[in-house]
Formats: sequence, C-alpha cells, structure tokens
Amino acid sequence: MNDRARPPAGKQRDQADREAAWQRELREQFPIVTAHPESAYLDSAATSQKPRAVLDAVQTYLTTSNANAGRGTYPWANRTTDLVEGTRERVKEFLRDPEPERSTVHFTSGTTEGLRTVARDWLVPYLSDGDEILVPFADHRANLDPWLEARRLLAERGIDVRVRALPRQEVSGDYDHRALADLVGPRTRFVAATHVHHVYGGDMNVHRVRAAVGPDVPICLDAAQSVGHLPVEPADPALDVDFVVFSGHKSMALPGSGAVWARNARGPVFRPAGWQGTPNTAGIASLRAALDWLDAAGPGRIARWTAGLTTRLTDRLSRLGPYEILGCPVSLAADSVLPADQRRHGIVTFRHHDIPSDDLGFILYSHGFMVRADSLCQAGTAAEEGSVRVSLHVYNTVEEIDRLLAVLTSLT
Ligand code: PMP
Repeated sequence: MNDRARPPAGKQRDQADREAAWQRELREQFPIVTAHPESAYLDSAATSQKPRAVLDAVQTYLTTSNANAGRGTYPWANRTTDLVEGTRERVKEFLRDPEPERSTVHFTSGTTEGLRTVARDWLVPYLSDGDEILVPFADHRANLDPWLEARRLLAERGIDVRVRALPRQEVSGDYDHRALADLVGPRTRFVAATHVHHVYGGDMNVHRVRAAVGPDVPICLDAAQSVGHLPVEPADPALDVDFVVFSGHKSMALPGSGAVWARNARGPVFRPAGWQGTPNTAGIASLRAALDWLDAAGPGRIARWTAGLTTRLTDRLSRLGPYEILGCPVSLAADSVLPADQRRHGIVTFRHHDIPSDDLGFILYSHGFMVRADSLCQAGTAAEEGSVRVSLHVYNTVEEIDRLLAVLTSLT
C-alpha cells in the first residue's frame, strides 16, 4: 500500500479497536474457551472449538425432533428430513454455489471419508486405461491414500492409470505451477489439490493449478483447513474447482460431521454408491448452525483476524535464533512484500534447534498452551518431524500470541 492509500493513524486505530471488540464478542460465545482463561487452545487445525449456538442447536434438535431422516410419517421424522435436506442447501449457499440445482452435497464423517468417497464412487468409474491423474504427495495423507487406492482398484480390473505427483517448489511447500504445466497432457483427467496446507499454513494458490491444467480437467479441493477460516467459493473464477471436501468438526460443528460438495460441471455427476444408511443427524444439525454462525461472523473477517495473529507470531519468531519456521520462507519473511492476509492462514509449524518437539510441547502445555507436537499426518516427507504446530481460529487473541512468544523467548 502506498502512503496516499494508507488511512490516517487515527482511523487505523479505530479500525483495530472495532476488530478487537468484534473478536471479543465472538470469543465469549465459546464456553470451553472462556472457562479456561489460563489456557490457550492453539490446535484448531486438528479440530475447532464450538460456539454456544452450535451446542444449543444440537440440544434443541435432540430434545425436540430427534428421529431418523426420510423414513417417518410423523412430525419429528419430517423435521429431521427437512433438517438434512435444508443443510444440503445451506452448504451450497455457504459455498456461494451459483448453480445449486446442478450440484450435489453428500454428508460424511469428515474430509478423509469425503475424499475416499470421491475416489471410489466418482473417480474409479470415470477413468480409462492410459489416463493420468495428478495428486499431492506431500500434503495430508487423507489427500493421497484415496487416489492410490483408486489406482489399485482399477489395476485389479486391468485398467492402468498413471498417478503423477503434483510438483512442488523445493523449500516453500507451494506447488510448482510451471513444472505442473509441463506435466499436463491430453490424458490428464483429474487433479487433487489442497487449499491451505495443514503443516505450512500456506494458501496453495489453486487458481494457478487451474491455469496450468486448462479449463476442462476436474479438480478436487481438500478444504479441511480453509472452510471456516476464509471465504471458499469453488465456482468463482478465482478458484474454479469441481469438488470441495471438508470436515465440519474443524469448522465449528460436531466431530463426525463433514461434507462433499460436487459441482457436476466437468466429468460425470457425483452419485455416492450403495445404501447410505442413517445419516449423522445431530452432526448435520451442528453443521447447519456452524455455517450460520460462520456466515454471520464473516469468513473474510475471520481470515483477516487470524492472518494478523499469524503475522505477529511469525515476524517475531523468525527473529529468535534457535527457532526454524517450516515452509514458505519468502512469503513469511518479516520484510515480505506480500500483504499479511496472503501469507499464512492461521498455521505455523516450527522447531527449536536444541529442544525436541515432545519436550517443547510439554513445556508449552505447562504454561497452558495446547499445541500439536507429534506427527502431523503429512504424506511422503519427514519435513515435519521434530516440529510443533500452532494453529489458530477466531477465538484466539493477540494476548495469547504475546504470552506464547514470551515463553518461546525464555527458551532462547
Ligand atoms: N486434509 C487436511 C488438509 C487436513 O488437515 C486434515 C485433518 N488434519 C484432513 C484432510 C483429514 O480430516 P479428517 O480427520 O477430519 O477426516
């Protein structure tokens, strides 16, 4: 931003005060957070905390209309059916789907099951002998295993499909979009990509993947770390993907909830195979309330809040000698030209040169900080070994980051 575009200092302060008041009001809606002011939950990439509105929605559902969906002829069952169908529409609305009559929403227990369903029920029937698919080999394992399993299932039927790794830049963790363009050929039929990396926190610039593969290849987006954290608009030309797969439990809803949104514009229509059984109705009630809550808070505003905290943490941590922050060194540098909200989305993974991660996790917990200090489920690389991950959501505060930095500084 040049000087002329920068608002005067007073206005900036007003804006910061407004955002702080907004965040305080949101934070107070998380009972588990406010009940433990001495602690700081910094593990939201694993699962998010739940606001009162979500807990109330589950309680209301279970105490007023609990029944099975699509089966009854009485009001509770009808209300449950309406809940499930209404939540499908709510997911489409949340994702700003411009063609809701064409798309499909399928409820799952989370991203892992969602990606596996896309692989088995959509990708396997779609591919033919000699086709190629591009998938990430250094993102979350949930976004690799299903595609390898699809290749195996096809091979058992005598159909040979080539699985190629989405190329990556050496140190940053980002995809290498130029090398990717060279890999794309007439048999490239599908790409799986990640929206926000669960270890590095970087936005994986999937619009560049779209630019590299051209307009016709379906792209499946693992949005486990982006839904609830930033606006996710899959049909927007800035993203332009065909599947969005996410976990409700990472975006304010109950464990065991999640969804696949399929656009049905490229390749066959997505139809999960077989008998679906009883859906997780309480989880679906929680998902609907979570999406209402997130939309009211504003995913863009949430993203600006957590990006501000992330930048505060990384700018200071990068100047503390014994620490090494993993991934994205260019975008993360204190003098980065990138605006704060394009650097990292609320996830920072780092290691201390002399303190093993288990010990560091233990020390941090003794000061009230809950972080991830074991393996991070990353596929195909040992990059994350010995590291600690801090991951944030809108309930985290500047004061928590400063307290964390004070403890990390005391260990230098
Ligand atoms: N993909 C990414 C990027 C993730 O971070 C995670 C969860 N850590 C998953 C997939 C799997 O999500 P779930 O455990 O909810 O199935």
